[in-house]
Amino acid sequence: MKELTPHEIHPKSPEIDSQKVILVILDGLRFDTAQSSMGYLAHLIETSQASLYKVQAELPTLSRPLYEVLLTGTATSVNGITANDVARLSHQTSLFHLATQQGLTTAAAAFHWFSELYNQFPFDRFTDREQHHLHLPIQHGKFYWDEAYPDSHLFADAEALRQGCHPNFMLVHPMGIDYTGHRFGGESAEYRGRAIATDSLLAQVLPRWISAGYEILITADHGMNADGQHGGIRADVRETPLFCISSRNRPGTYLEGISQLAIAPLICQLLALPYGKNMRPSKIPGWPISAESSSSPEQKPLDLALADPGLLSDRPIAAATTPLAQRTEL
Ligand SMILES: [Zn+2]
Repeated sequence: MKELTPHEIHPKSPEIDSQKVILVILDGLRFDTAQSSMGYLAHLIETSQASLYKVQAELPTLSRPLYEVLLTGTATSVNGITANDVARLSHQTSLFHLATQQGLTTAAAAFHWFSELYNQFPFDRFTDREQHHLHLPIQHGKFYWDEAYPDSHLFADAEALRQGCHPNFMLVHPMGIDYTGHRFGGESAEYRGRAIATDSLLAQVLPRWISAGYEILITADHGMNADGQHGGIRADVRETPLFCISSRNRPGTYLEGISQLAIAPLICQLLALPYGKNMRPSKIPGWPISAESSSSPEQKPLDLALADPGLLSDRPIAAATTPLAQRTEL
């Protein structure tokens, strides 16, 4: 018997099919390098097909805390993911939770910490690398754990998920810029070269995604200083880019700075999702869509992780143990 694909099991309405967002998090990309070294993205801005914002990252400027900030719209002191070593499922209502609760399809091609935050903890590299579980917040995932995993392969992973699973919301998260920044510093030829290489990878997938009807946001968790580190508060680690490609956005370059906490609520608006209960939406210039909640009052966000841990996995939830890879410098 032919096995049904998830798309055939849960056919989407035409309305839901039109709600499509891809969030790209370029790990470790600082604002000035994004603005000066990524020529294809600059071309989209120059031809009024995209906008660029300067984002003020939350603190501390570390990866796991800021993954949680970007995907839940909550500050570190609210969500409790205060350090890279705080490794557990998120207690917040993430964009993945909100999207699946509304019947949207979710996917991620990303570092395994995202699986640990939103699908299951700890990560088992022999069973969790490729995931297709409709009951989990990230329904379709391809996850890596080696921070040297090639960005070229990561973007191919993402494109395979997009073509095969038709996600309404997909996270794409390459690590190459961060990896190179740690080795050579954030003001090195190698770091800038990696940004150029990533821009070229984006130049291959973005035309496909745009023609498929996706709205696309490209940002970073944090920047990188000349020492090859991040975690502090200076502009080199705190200022990150947000490129927006959407017909609903007014093209331009917005240098006044927006909060990193505004990105998750913006994605809620784009996908017509209710806000998570701890999100704090704010007005972003260039976005004419309302900054008010897109939800009706009865659309109460449900935190699956808190409500019923059994819903999250068809396997027992393991107690917090040492995660697969403890990298405090990510
Ligand atoms: Zn890092």
